[in-house]
Amino acid sequence: MITGVELAGANAATNTLRTLYDFIRQVRNSNDPTKLKEAVDVAFERLLTAREQVAALQDERAAALDQINALQKQLDARIDFEKQEANYDLRRFYPGTFAYLQKGVGSSDENSPRYCQPCFVDKKLSILQPAGPQRGSNTPYFCPKCKTQFLFGDPDWSPIIA
Ligand SMILES: [Zn+2]
Repeated sequence: MITGVELAGANAATNTLRTLYDFIRQVRNSNDPTKLKEAVDVAFERLLTAREQVAALQDERAAALDQINALQKQLDARIDFEKQEANYDLRRFYPGTFAYLQKGVGSSDENSPRYCQPCFVDKKLSILQPAGPQRGSNTPYFCPKCKTQFLFGDPDWSPIIA
């Protein structure tokens, strides 16, 4: 994230150049060779400082551009997800487990993979995977992304009031 640190770096470089300009303006009309030699040394040191500050700013700029690109990718993924979101329905299964199903897969929604509800809320699709043997009339599943465990019984087709 772009912070006050980067702004402080830009201000430091600007201040260095301003004081250098003021300094050169003060000594430029001098005819004293000793004073001019000292002035060249001071100006050279300040130019080196300004060059280091500009290099640091370039590094900060590159880091900021990387952050912008990463945020753009996250935004694009979120926009893509929101375009597809309407193709999924939240369903309840006994004994009270929720999962998203893709609408109209095959002849019924039951042919859809089951998608993790917590991941769906985070705008991610994650297909639940079987997690071991049947437990009574329920089948255990887990989410490979968020590691949430689920127990699925028969679907409960009563409407879900959101
Ligand atoms: Zn998940």
